[in-house]
Amino acid sequence: MYRCCPGCNLSREGCLSLGRGIHCCPLCGALFGECVSLAVSYEYVKPRFASEDVPPQRWRYYDFTCHSGVGTVRRHGWFDRDTGLIVQVG
Ligand SMILES: [Zn+2]
Repeated sequence: MYRCCPGCNLSREGCLSLGRGIHCCPLCGALFGECVSLAVSYEYVKPRFASEDVPPQRWRYYDFTCHSGVGTVRRHGWFDRDTGLIVQVG
């Protein structure tokens, strides 16, 4: 899976590898990939919602498939690129 950016469909080869399965899209700024644990994904997108309104220009898409002890968990939605907090799920 993740042959291309889930935000704008740029091929994965055109995206930057951040290591540990995480990729960053240079066009739309999305973060995506298969990671070895939920904890790795939390380093990029925290498991908490932003408490205030986030301006639309700071929204970035994320889509992680995390392999954890409780099975595979998918996290996806929009996060604030400045704080790493979730803006919208799904
Ligand atoms: Zn993209």
